[in-house]
Amino acid sequence: MVRVIYPGSFDPMTYGHLDIVQRSSKLFDEVIMAVVGNPGKSPLLPPEERTELIREVVKDLKNVSIGSFQGLTVDYAKQNDIKVLIRGLRAISDFEAELGMEQANKQLFPELETIFLMTKAEYSFISSSTVKEIARLGGDVSQFVPPPVNEYLKRHFSRGTK
Ligand code: ADP
Repeated sequence: MVRVIYPGSFDPMTYGHLDIVQRSSKLFDEVIMAVVGNPGKSPLLPPEERTELIREVVKDLKNVSIGSFQGLTVDYAKQNDIKVLIRGLRAISDFEAELGMEQANKQLFPELETIFLMTKAEYSFISSSTVKEIARLGGDVSQFVPPPVNEYLKRHFSRGTK
């Protein structure tokens, strides 16, 4: 039985993230999608809201559960007896950052293997930051994010919270 963790900020979750978690759920027995709530990143959504949206979006994926933590992913993985970490890769820029993180994690927790799933071409340009910027300026992000996230962003920005 292989349990994996797919950690991220998910601020907010996009179709790119959904694609990675769907594909992981076919490859592994159990996927824990974990919202990292580290202070200092100034997210748009509080961790609880990010978690709630993910819960709604992945509710039909029976082997996916939601977690959240502050601190190091390796510590969360150790505490929950997880030996596989999933990350998505879009561009060369992702690769550089992810390679550094993978190597640091390996030093901290040698038993942990990181597996990278390449983004689907149609999602390769989607990032949470781009989505937030478009939504903030009043644009339609419905093709980039699942419906509950779209509704959340519409409500958030129509209140004039920019
Ligand atoms: P972090 O702040 O930890 O990088 P993100 O929420 O931005 O968190 O992303 C979480 C993971 O999902 C990362 O591995 C990231 O590369 C991946 N990811 C983000 N957007 C996409 C996308 N459009 N396609 C595939 N993977 C993606």
